[in-house]
Amino acid sequence: MSRIHNFSAGPAALPTEVLQQAQAELLDWRGVGASVMEISHRDKAFIQVAEQAEADLRSLLAVPAGYKVLFLQGGATQHFVQIPMNLAAEGASADFIITGAWSLKAQKEASKVVKTRIAACTEAGGFKSVPGSYDFDPNASFVHYCPNETIQGVEFSELPNAGDVPLVADMSSNFMSCPIDVSRFGVLYAGAQKNIGPSGIGVLIISDALLARQPRNLPNILNYLKHAEAGSMLNTPPTFAWYLCGLVFQWMQRQGGLAGLGAVNARKASKLYDYIIGSDFYQLHADPNARSRMNVVFFLPKPELDASFLKGADAAGLMGLKGHRDLGGMRASIYNAVPEAAVDALLTYMQDFAKRHG
Ligand code: PMP
Repeated sequence: MSRIHNFSAGPAALPTEVLQQAQAELLDWRGVGASVMEISHRDKAFIQVAEQAEADLRSLLAVPAGYKVLFLQGGATQHFVQIPMNLAAEGASADFIITGAWSLKAQKEASKVVKTRIAACTEAGGFKSVPGSYDFDPNASFVHYCPNETIQGVEFSELPNAGDVPLVADMSSNFMSCPIDVSRFGVLYAGAQKNIGPSGIGVLIISDALLARQPRNLPNILNYLKHAEAGSMLNTPPTFAWYLCGLVFQWMQRQGGLAGLGAVNARKASKLYDYIIGSDFYQLHADPNARSRMNVVFFLPKPELDASFLKGADAAGLMGLKGHRDLGGMRASIYNAVPEAAVDALLTYMQDFAKRHG
């Protein structure tokens, strides 16, 4: 078996142990003589998997009472419109903080169903930073932001303070990567395919207070309250993806929970940033106070070197480093399941490449 070092932005690396367990259980899950994929989501055995996954997520993330955890089909994009559909208060607009491609997309999509306002935007500076100040509307239905911009590699180290207006966070690329205080948020949501599982499923955590904003005439499938009442089984859920997330949560517990993972994630990121800052070859995209622990975006001295960097990386067993097409350069995504040894291998390669081309 050979597994490469995987720096893909998403779908991304999964823990090898989890894949091995899934492989071992694939044909005959828990002695039922069928795969977990082949049984009803209403089967007691599957309900137990679903409940355990939720319980483990709640304990890992220390989700307080008064919040529902939903496991929903698909990723984050649908929530760009579903959130305003569920949360928009009559006559009020929604505030958006724009710090990169994803929060911009979220605002554009939301504006199709609700009036949006921009509370801060860092586009003029090239999406390299987090805002220094905000223009919040105290009457807004909610404030939406993206704590970690996957494409630009820009991460907030502190929460924006919007007063009493509920904070809604697209945590797709830094979800469960370190401890957070869930009580500071109205809604948190993320596709699974970066830090907690495969694509095809996402998690949305919502406060009971926001769930009570029952919009009228919303089709059930778009209504978070209906999903909550049905235990995320309003219709057939992505059972295999849900099961895999459950295995990842158990793996996360074995890594010391979010505190343990957070410490390793911080160390992995520091190693890369420290080297790049000290090198006169590579350059970073993000400003010092906004450098993502998850997506490290960097450039070579000239774009003509990109192809040769990627070719050599491939030969060295380093996959998924090509930057997003909007930005160019390189991006190393170092989510939970990317081991420190992968970062060490990348560093060795980068040092060697710089020596040969510097
Ligand atoms: N938000 C962020 C921050 C993302 O990184 C992504 C996916 N790369 C999305 C939203 C879109 O997620 P999905 O493809 O799961 O809808």
